[in-house]
Amino acid sequence: MPSAVQREQAYDRERDQQPWRKWYKTAKWQRARAEFLADPENQFCVRCRANGLLNPGIYRKDGTLETNRRRMHLVVNHVQRHHGDEMLFWDRNNWEPLCPDHHDIDVQAEERQGTGGGSKV
Ligand SMILES: [Zn+2]
Repeated sequence: MPSAVQREQAYDRERDQQPWRKWYKTAKWQRARAEFLADPENQFCVRCRANGLLNPGIYRKDGTLETNRRRMHLVVNHVQRHHGDEMLFWDRNNWEPLCPDHHDIDVQAEERQGTGGGSKV
């Protein structure tokens, strides 16, 4: 039986080999992402907001202040997992702002479970 850590490493390796990983490194994505997060509609993590916390990327999901400067920002999440589908990847209607906590913990857990369910909010 592989340990949870081993499974996680295997998952990360596999994910890094996906051709769509490089889409995140393109200037097109960087620009589109910045524009999306600059929109007044997208100033707060949607999942924190559902919990009554207005989080512009400075809080952890439990509402305490984030102290790691590298995590003090919002992440653009794909509501419906794109699985390499370019239409879904670039469709802004399929994007939502999340804090790093919600992005890491919830979304990646969903990916690992292979549910592909996107947002459950
Ligand atoms: Zn959040």
